[in-house]
Amino acid sequence: MFAKDHRLTKRAYKTLIADLPKDELEKALQQVQQITKPTKKKPLQLTAKVKIHPTIEQKEILWALAENCRLIHYFANKERKEWWDKNKHLPKKKQDKESKPTYNKQSAELPKLKEIYPRYQQNYSKTLQDTLKQLEADYRSFYTLRDNGDEDARPPGFKGKKYFTTIHYNQSGFKIQGNKITFTHFYPTKETKKVNLTFEMQGKFTFANKKVKQVTIYQVHKTKEFFLSIIYEQTTPEYYNNDIYQAIDLGINNLVAAVNSHEGKTIIIKNKRVDKYWQPKIEEVQKKRDHCIKYSNRWHWYNNKLSKMIAKQANQRKDFQHKISKQIVENTKANTIIIGDLNVKAMSKSKKNDKKNKKSLHRSMQNSGSIGRFARFLTYKAEKVGKKVIRISERRTTKRCSYCMNKENKLLSERTISCDCGLVINRDTSSAATLLQRFFALLAVSQKKRLVVRQRLLKEFREKFFSDTQSTIKRKFLQQWSWADSQRIKS
Ligand SMILES: [Zn+2]
Repeated sequence: MFAKDHRLTKRAYKTLIADLPKDELEKALQQVQQITKPTKKKPLQLTAKVKIHPTIEQKEILWALAENCRLIHYFANKERKEWWDKNKHLPKKKQDKESKPTYNKQSAELPKLKEIYPRYQQNYSKTLQDTLKQLEADYRSFYTLRDNGDEDARPPGFKGKKYFTTIHYNQSGFKIQGNKITFTHFYPTKETKKVNLTFEMQGKFTFANKKVKQVTIYQVHKTKEFFLSIIYEQTTPEYYNNDIYQAIDLGINNLVAAVNSHEGKTIIIKNKRVDKYWQPKIEEVQKKRDHCIKYSNRWHWYNNKLSKMIAKQANQRKDFQHKISKQIVENTKANTIIIGDLNVKAMSKSKKNDKKNKKSLHRSMQNSGSIGRFARFLTYKAEKVGKKVIRISERRTTKRCSYCMNKENKLLSERTISCDCGLVINRDTSSAATLLQRFFALLAVSQKKRLVVRQRLLKEFREKFFSDTQSTIKRKFLQQWSWADSQRIKS
């Protein structure tokens, strides 16, 4: 049934490229070129979330500093809003640009304000500037929405006094020593002896050799816990192409179906379906809540419980994605990982779903959102260790047989496809194999190599991947293992 050398016919080879519309082909080629012509490297910016435990005295200081930020935000926002109310009806050209509040104008007034109201001297001065900068950013996106014709867009709102206003320390005003961080402040006054804002940062992060760009202090209102959000730069090892590739089909049932160019190995990792565990429990609590009088004590109790469960579910899903993406990146010998371009996938999926009800559309959008996050995790974790994730269109990869590239596949089940050429294979694995072969074709196009040369990688992969007989391929996917099985929650 199978030819001995597993060569791809010329016609089949051409479909790998011909399946792509022009824009998708161009996008894919741009991605592939990253391998041959590496772009200039920027340090990777990462964010860490760290819990802190302020003492009562420190809490008092934090609240005072946050309140000053809130007041500055209030007055600056009021000025901007008044300008907007006066000018919004006018065409853009006639708006009074002279009187329009800007970050530069507002921050220039800060020194004067500090003289009149000494309380603002309590803050490290840049934290007040950064509040104004944040406001400017919010207004910029508001104006953009308006310019794009969104009449419902409202200007940024005011911050409530009950809520802790986030304090931004940009570039300076903080000092990190070991696992301790100290923030500059002058509460209650510049002259008096003051309590230090020094916090221990627990957890696995160390910032000793990292360039920290920004630290923000915030409070989660519901739990009253304080956190730092720390943006730091990390230099990453240089990427080099070791000519080993891994293609991954990302999905909902199988989070990962990967094939490896080097050994022809396949890996399948089942998604941990946390929703199957949580959904019945969530629905039960929801039902109980809806039987209560709205906003009554009991209603609040159930509502609180409900939001905690939903948060827990989301956290478990995220943790699982972190864990798997890390393992994928670290365990593969490939320095180049190829995944489907999700923007393209999401579009073609939503079209199909138009006919179905809204719920399934909603679910599919949620799903593509969750896959998108997993793809981002993969991308930055790869970058951290000097590997590269590139995205190419996966159009028709699920429909074609990865061996002969014919389209008419019989669907044995949701999971398995069988082709007249004799291949019986897991659908997601097949999809990954086609994606990898498309990548090789694209690589050849971008390098303008002649047919003989450009078939080399393809040939090597196919020989390893398809060298088994049909039955062994069948067996292969039955034996596939999954990390999810060991989890407490059954999938
Ligand atoms: Zn076939």
